Formats: sequence, C-alpha cells, structure tokens
Amino acid sequence: MTRYPLLEIDLRKLYINSKIINKLCNDRGISVAGVIKGFGGIREGVKELINGGCAQIASSRIEQLIDIKKMDMDIPLLLLRNPMESEIESVIKFTHMSLVSDIETIVFLNREAKKQGIEYRVILMYDVGDLREGFFDKAELLNTALFVEREMENLILEGVGTSLTCYGSVIPTVKNLGQLCHAAELIEERIGRRLNIISGGSTTSLPLVVDGTIPEKINHLRIGEAISCAKYLEDEQGCKIEGIHKDAFTLKAQIIEINTKPTYPIGERLLNSFGDEVEYVDLGIRKRAIVAMGNQDVGDCFKIYPRDPYIRVMGGSSDHIILDIHDSPIDYKVGDIVEFDIEYQPMLFTSLSDYVHKSFIP
Ligand SMILES: *Cc1c(COP(=O)(O)O)cnc(C)c1O
Repeated sequence: MTRYPLLEIDLRKLYINSKIINKLCNDRGISVAGVIKGFGGIREGVKELINGGCAQIASSRIEQLIDIKKMDMDIPLLLLRNPMESEIESVIKFTHMSLVSDIETIVFLNREAKKQGIEYRVILMYDVGDLREGFFDKAELLNTALFVEREMENLILEGVGTSLTCYGSVIPTVKNLGQLCHAAELIEERIGRRLNIISGGSTTSLPLVVDGTIPEKINHLRIGEAISCAKYLEDEQGCKIEGIHKDAFTLKAQIIEINTKPTYPIGERLLNSFGDEVEYVDLGIRKRAIVAMGNQDVGDCFKIYPRDPYIRVMGGSSDHIILDIHDSPIDYKVGDIVEFDIEYQPMLFTSLSDYVHKSFIP
C-alpha cells in the first residue's frame, strides 16, 4: 500500500529541465554546476542532472557530496560553502573544489591538501552587495588571490564567484556581475594567466542569460532551483523558459478528517503552536479537510499549492494542515489524496524528512 505523505519525483521532467538549462547556458559559453541541496541530494535526481549535461554537481552539504562520490559517476564535485574546520579532511578527500572566502579556511585547506598529497582547487567568493559570504573589499580579494597563487603550494586558484539573492535579496545585474568580472580581470593581470571559472551566481542570474545581457566573462553558474522546482524564476522574476517543467515534484497527502466549522476561532487567543501570532479572517462556516502532514514536513504550509484550484490552505500546525474545500466541485472523502505543487522551501523540507515517503516516475 502506498504510504503518505508522499513526495513524487518525475525523473523525466528533471532530466528535461537539466537539459534545457544546460543548453541555454552552454550556448553562451557558460557551464552549469547542478545544485542538489534543494532536494536533499536524492541520488535518482542527481543522476538526471548529470544526464542532462551538468558539468559539475554542487552542494553546501559535504554529506550529500560524499554520497554522490560513492555513486562513482565520474563528475567533479563542488562544495558551495566555506568548509568547516571539522570537515576539512572529508572536503579534501571527497570534493574537487570549494567556494571559499576566508583566509584561515584557505590555510586549513592548504595544510590538509598537503597532508593528503594532492592539489585542491578553490573559487574565491566576492561579495558585490548581497552581504552573505564573500570578500567585501576588492583589495582584500586581490591580495587573497595572490596569496593562494603564490604561497599556498597545494591549492590551485580556480576562479572567482559571487552569490546574489541569498541573504540580501539583491538581483543580479549587468552592473554587479560586471564588478565580479572586473575583479577577475585584475586578478588575471596580477597572476599572469586566465582564471578557469568566473561563477556568476545561481538561478536568479538566468534572466540575464535568457536576454543575452550577462557579461561575457561569466562562464559558470550554480543552478538548483531552475532545474528542480523552477517556480521562483517564472513566478517571481517573470522569466519563462520554454519547456521547463515547474511540476517535477508533486507532494501528496491523505485526508484524515472532513468537517464543517466556523473560520474564526472561538475564545480568547494566544499564539499558535509555533509561537506565532496569526490573523484570522471570518469567512463564515466552511467545509474543510485535514490532511496528515504538517509544518514539520513542509516548513511553511502556505508555500504548498493544491493542484485543485478550488482548494485553499487555511493553515496548519506541526502535524496537521487544514484545507478549505468548500468551493471544490470534488466531493472529498476521508482517505482521499490531495496533490500539491511545492516551492523551494517545501521541496527542501519534504526531501529531507524521513516522515515523507519518496517515489519516482521514471
Ligand atoms: C544554493 C546555492 C546555489 C544554488 O541556488 P539556486 O537558487 O537553487 O539556483 C548557488 N550557489 C550557492 C553558494 C548556493 O548556496
């Protein structure tokens, strides 16, 4: 018997998404690192990213990269976050390169690479305004690049990169990516050779690829969202890429109660189960269904979207999500399955949850 909640992954759609994004980027001289952390690095999905043409596989989590290494897929692995001191040994052993932006980390990496007798590649991150990781000061970036090139015998300066729309919500533009390219040129002048990788961000940089304005020097992007759930790009950035499937992931949950109740809580109110103050709108008496799935499974129940357009998510707690089914022409019964589209956060949560079962459409 099928178990619920269920995350159903359409592997063919993932493959098509990967192929389309790779073609789009490759045609402009950009190679794609397929980012797997958004769906918990599930192996079946990773294979489709690789089959679709991703040149590298990337994650912020070393555990996921170690797992992929064990698949023996012969693809370079990129760690997307400054390695922790406590994971340096695995990072050197299992990955091919890391994004780094801290001088002490660089020294640790060099020491461990020397110990393991290998040369390890690093991409230095430059913060052009989003204010998460990266050297903020261009002179410091330059000096660190020279330091890696000249003094870190077991490190290879592979390139430079930037992160945008992560913390500061800053949109990639010709101007801020231009700053990255300019910094890259200065480094190249000083070290007397070309850098292999100029990494211009993530999914949110794709509109510049689509409209052809991305600076020519950018030759690498790290793409997760646009290949996997693909919602943000079209819904928030208004960038529609022909043929991309937004529904490679389907979340399914089972109804455990159907009832007709008022919509406005009765009695004095405090906070909800997660300590949040919620506003309630009185919509009168409505027919509702509860599905056996909660915020511990999906993160935020307002980021899942019933495929039945007449159903609305009313709210939820750790283990219950309440759906308004009053207007639906479908006569839902206890035991019925409700399907949802999901965005990035629920994709992340459900992929990682042991309580959410997984299945694959080949
Ligand atoms: C997660 C991540 C990405 C991928 O972002 P998407 O929005 O999924 O394309 C790229 N770079 C870094 C550093 C990341 O942490």
